[in-house]
Amino acid sequence: APAVTSLDVRGVHYSYPDGQVALRGVDLTVPRGERIALLGPNGAGKTTLVLHLNGILAGGEGTVTVGGLTVSRDRATLAEIRRRVGIVFQDPDDQLFLPTVAEDVAFGPANLGLRGAELDARVTEALDAVGMTEHRERAPQHLSFGQRRRVAVATVLAMRPEILVLDEPSSNLDPAARRELAAILRGLPVTLLMVTHDLPYALELCDRALILDTGRIVADGATADLLADTDLLAQHRLEL
Ligand code: ATP
Repeated sequence: APAVTSLDVRGVHYSYPDGQVALRGVDLTVPRGERIALLGPNGAGKTTLVLHLNGILAGGEGTVTVGGLTVSRDRATLAEIRRRVGIVFQDPDDQLFLPTVAEDVAFGPANLGLRGAELDARVTEALDAVGMTEHRERAPQHLSFGQRRRVAVATVLAMRPEILVLDEPSSNLDPAARRELAAILRGLPVTLLMVTHDLPYALELCDRALILDTGRIVADGATADLLADTDLLAQHRLEL
């Protein structure tokens, strides 16, 4: 039977080599197709948690399972986990480095071994999903910031990830580009985990939200309920 859980995190503890404790026992289950916001003040451990999801960071306690596959040190497993967990970084230019949009989007699936018409179809599918098909032969550096962010999303979608992780997707976008991206993300048939300080954007996109603070999940519920709780927000230094 197909896995119905995209992400399962059990008892994850992590300390950096300098002794800084970043995660103090994180448990999290995300059903397939859900869109979930990960909120929390600076230094809460959000980035550390995201880096655990695809095995970039490991070595602490606990397990991370993505679409039924558990992160381990095995090379083939790690490669498959990295395909399944697609991370869109805050700066799109970290993911765009080739002469054309199409080449950037083809890079990941070509590494998986796709070629020819199959590769081309994968690129077309990913660019269609973010509304950038007509820009496929353009140079990424000549696109607007909002367009570059959409291409960065496409580079990840081209891997057909189990879960799409977005780090501050609304940052540096003007109101029109914000709305455009929200509509695109809402239409994607993929599990979505969005790390953000932008609470209205979390509310617009995610039915469910988590608050992480000092390495622990301190709230997990309907985004609207969490954001309506002004004491909770103040307690965790979150501003609407
Ligand atoms: P922000 O919203 O500011 O990005 P965050 O929620 O992503 O914060 P993390 O970056 O995961 O938080 O940091 C969690 C804790 O781990 C903090 O105390 C931070 O100082 C510490 N930390 C982060 N990276 C390192 C590192 N490379 N070495 C040591 N400590 C680190």
